[in-house]
Amino acid sequence: MQDCIFCKIARGELPSRKVHEDDELLAFHDIHPVAPLHLLVIPKRHIASLMDVTADDAGVLGRMLALAPRLARDNGSPEGFRTIVNTGRIGRQDVAHVHLHVIGGPKPLGPMVPRSAD
Ligand code: AMP
Ligand code: ZN
Repeated sequence: MQDCIFCKIARGELPSRKVHEDDELLAFHDIHPVAPLHLLVIPKRHIASLMDVTADDAGVLGRMLALAPRLARDNGSPEGFRTIVNTGRIGRQDVAHVHLHVIGGPKPLGPMVPRSAD
């Protein structure tokens, strides 16, 4: 998509700190990391969100997840990590191009989601 920032990163029109690239996927450091390791894995093909996927997307989504352990091991999170896919308004998705957060580091992370007041 023309104006999508992750499509622009995938096309090389915006810079990123890449850690992996193949024909189908790109992985790069999040610009505002929430932990010592915070990567994003995206499909190069624009998919707006998990709400928009079809059965045809199952392969690429599986390969995004399957890439995560290697990325974690190679980037300082060898003992585990957390994956998150924020989706839509309720999931507080800010960038409308599906992405897998891979978050970790040398120490255990904080709680998954803080308890909300209501
Ligand atoms: P989400 O709330 O799941 O949509 O997360 C979007 C993520 O993209 C946030 O963690 C941002 O810090 C990250 N982000 C936004 N723009 C960029 C960029 N140009 N390069 C790397 N990460 C970005
Ligand atoms: Zn896009």
